[in-house]
Amino acid sequence: MPMRYTPSAAVTAPLGIYVHIPFCKRKCDYCDFYSICDYTDKLMDRYLEALIVQLNDYFRHNRRKVDTVYIGGGTPSVFGGKRIEKLLKEMRRLVELVPGAEITVEANPESIDEKFLKRISSAGVNRLSMGIQSADDRELASIGRLHTYSQAVEAYHLSRKYINNISLDLIYALEGQTMERWMDNLKAICDLAPDHISCYCLKVEEGTPLDRRGCVQPEDDVQADMYLESVKYLESRGYAQYEISNFARNGRISRHNSRYWDLSEYLGIGCAAHSYYGGRRFAFVSDIHAFIDGVLHGKPVVGEQDEMDYWNCSGEYVMLKLRTCDGIDPEVFEQRFDQSFEPYARGLEKYVRSGHAKLEMGRWKLTPEGMLVSNAILADLLDSILEQAE
Ligand code: SF4
Repeated sequence: MPMRYTPSAAVTAPLGIYVHIPFCKRKCDYCDFYSICDYTDKLMDRYLEALIVQLNDYFRHNRRKVDTVYIGGGTPSVFGGKRIEKLLKEMRRLVELVPGAEITVEANPESIDEKFLKRISSAGVNRLSMGIQSADDRELASIGRLHTYSQAVEAYHLSRKYINNISLDLIYALEGQTMERWMDNLKAICDLAPDHISCYCLKVEEGTPLDRRGCVQPEDDVQADMYLESVKYLESRGYAQYEISNFARNGRISRHNSRYWDLSEYLGIGCAAHSYYGGRRFAFVSDIHAFIDGVLHGKPVVGEQDEMDYWNCSGEYVMLKLRTCDGIDPEVFEQRFDQSFEPYARGLEKYVRSGHAKLEMGRWKLTPEGMLVSNAILADLLDSILEQAE
């Protein structure tokens, strides 16, 4: 008899911890993440204090094994090496960081220096994720980045001296970007030989400076070609795609981000941090002052929450797994959820006929063409499941 999946069944599995650092030197023109630019050292110290209180609240009486830690933002490099070191020291006291745990810190080129790198590497950080975004200075300026490409290259080489697993982020489909210019960017980044590359399509979010300026992106078919050519080119340079936007050399995938696509538990610490923990999805308030005040004075700081019911959970698992190149194994699905995969298989068949999905060695996967329109496919798939259930 297959076991029904319950969150408590996963309690002994190692956990991932995300820590949100909501400080940025300046807001990029495309960004709608929660972060603030008017910070002081005093505020950052109080925020660190609140993070440590939260870690104690969760783990003082519940020492968990942890195998991935991701300190993201915002710009953690703005928070400084000393604070990150203190945070990790406290974390090690409260949880059991398993040998070989992946500890990632996000950083921006203009806020990395030797002192920062020395501190975080001696604190155990073994992976750096750097936002480079473009290899073209005009493009960087057009999206409000604070660094030039040569500064980014310098920061990358400096980082290599201390951290041997580096991921670089790039954005394509920028205003005025041609296919040729995008491929030049990609080539320049591959020449640096990072271990991991993330390529995101620019999304002009409502209310951002790009939106207000009426940013015009390349036509949809050009964007589609940019994506499909990138997948091919990265493959030819040794970067295997393992998720819609993520590529790794020598198997150096992001183990932390992979938890998200596997619906494994993770706890987000800090304001605006999201969690999937104890069978619930929740997020802390997106207001640093309310967050600090709440945590330090024992007041509630959960902003949104959602009990993951059984169906909700299995549907989300399918959506997340189909984002990955490994796709979904119906047997694993059926064992985990005690539920037939058949309705999903029926929903996916039409996409096999259209060339957007495939069934390979018993696993359902999206093709690169399917990944390109994954949001539409996944929404349609969920709708068809709901209809079949009615
Ligand atoms: S550095 Fe990152 S989090 Fe900060 S504004 Fe730019 S994109 Fe947003």
